[in-house]
Amino acid sequence: MTDTPIFAGVAESLRTAANLLSATSDTPRLDAELLMAHALGVERQALLLDPGRYEVPDHYANLVATRMAHTPMAYIVGYRDFWTIRIEVGPGVLIPRPDSETLVEACLDIARREREEGWPSRVLDLGTGPGTLLLAVLSEFPEATGVGVDASDFALAYARDNAEQLGMADRSEFRSGDWGAGIDGPFDLILCNPPYIGDGEMLLPDVADHEPAEALFAGADGLDDYRRIVPDLPRLLAPRGIAVLEIGASQHISVRELAEAAGFDVACRQDLGGRDRALILSRSPRGSQ
Ligand code: GLN
Repeated sequence: MTDTPIFAGVAESLRTAANLLSATSDTPRLDAELLMAHALGVERQALLLDPGRYEVPDHYANLVATRMAHTPMAYIVGYRDFWTIRIEVGPGVLIPRPDSETLVEACLDIARREREEGWPSRVLDLGTGPGTLLLAVLSEFPEATGVGVDASDFALAYARDNAEQLGMADRSEFRSGDWGAGIDGPFDLILCNPPYIGDGEMLLPDVADHEPAEALFAGADGLDDYRRIVPDLPRLLAPRGIAVLEIGASQHISVRELAEAAGFDVACRQDLGGRDRALILSRSPRGSQ
């Protein structure tokens, strides 16, 4: 097999690429197909329906080699689907993770069960990156407006483009900043997926070697940014406002303690893998009088 040209017809190239990628990826066949679709400029569905229609583009081999070097798929194809929207990303910007959809689910549940129609009206996303959480939530609440803050101007450029692409530019504003500094409330809903990985923790090479460290690591115990963000939330939140924070799977108790010290009631929500993933902070009823 190794003597035959690696990339012959599409079907055979997909098989070869999937074999090559099995050492790098948990989803080698899917990656091979998405790279082929990307190289051809078609949707994966179209490719799979009729692979015989297409010829393998010359640069497919390069794309496969790039992926074999652990470059994340999202950086190669230029986007990651998140919730129901497409978020464009590139190197230097944190890639949206399915786990973070837990925060969007939490917001929808609260809106349906615990709040009146029209909530939330004003949304803040601290550490918005390419606009991931803010744009997903605004897509669910067509009357809401939002502000996304990030320390990376590079990420904010993606966020603004994404808002434009998704038709939400008139409802969203993106500001360069250090968490809540210089931002005035009140907000009905605050979203935040800060860096929360402990400095010494091992990550997969896709993440460790390619994604921005400043969006991932937060001191020895991964709590440095929560320590700065949580005490500022009472100032930023409306009286019946809610803050939804992403946490690492082992950080429920430590972040809960920070939130309780700031006067919040705290609930925890798990991701689809059953891991603690989101803390939901609301003012305790006495505090909201
Ligand atoms: N959950 C992400 C990861 O494990 C971390 C994202 C973050 O630090 N906010 O790669």
